[in-house]
Amino acid sequence: MEIATRRLAEALPGQTIEGVLTPGINVLKTFDPPLSALDGASFTGVRRRGKLLLLDADTASHGPLTLLVHLMSAGRLMLYDKRGSLRDRTSRVLIRLPEDRELRLREFGTKQAAWIKLLTPEGLEAEPALETLGPEAWPSPPELGELLSSNRPLHSLLRDQQVITGIGRTWVDEILHAAKLSPFKRGDDLSEKEAAALREAMVSELGRVLDVYEAKVKLPLPEKFPKPTRVHAHQGEPCPRCETVLEAVFYEDYVMSYCPHCQTEGRILKDRRLSRLLK
Ligand SMILES: [Zn+2]
Repeated sequence: MEIATRRLAEALPGQTIEGVLTPGINVLKTFDPPLSALDGASFTGVRRRGKLLLLDADTASHGPLTLLVHLMSAGRLMLYDKRGSLRDRTSRVLIRLPEDRELRLREFGTKQAAWIKLLTPEGLEAEPALETLGPEAWPSPPELGELLSSNRPLHSLLRDQQVITGIGRTWVDEILHAAKLSPFKRGDDLSEKEAAALREAMVSELGRVLDVYEAKVKLPLPEKFPKPTRVHAHQGEPCPRCETVLEAVFYEDYVMSYCPHCQTEGRILKDRRLSRLLK
């Protein structure tokens, strides 16, 4: 979301909104102020908080309003030079801009999970989706010792947006590998040194990914973003640091990859998919 925010922040402010359509049923989760309040408004800014995108606009009827956007896992926001066909089944929200341009929220797959809310400054303040978010993992997360002091494993703690926000299942593997920590180590079992290494890995790994995005991601914004991974989903390949073969634990809908030499003192963690098959 960080790179999408940057690209849209370069393009949207100052643009007039001609109208907003929501072909996605139930995508709009608020009704007051009405979406029509955005007609004729102009964008004033684009911000990000966690995985949420905040599109600020100045409206004639309601003053400053914010369109809060959550793309969930399959949603994409793209800024097109041409308006799309209304028959495009992936369209959830169409924000029409001058000269035929269109900011389009599309969602791929069968689920309709992405949502938007139109909020006043007070509404934004009280918005639960924002209120419960932990501190940002990038660019300067807080000290991690106390933040992670829980008996949950790091792999789950770091992806919990209420604990710390901005790390998904792909980058958690890269971060733990860079910090040489086991995904199953408990948060409250981190030494001061390990907590500092984890914090440093978080900043540098997310920074590395953003550098790649910064160089490669352009408007209208891609359907698929590049994934400059070195460890996640690279099981069976040599570890980029020590060349030990990377291992993985398979869950229902994702995979957790790690290096047994760098992270788990040589131990091969239980492969849950395999153990289920063997039952
Ligand atoms: Zn290794």
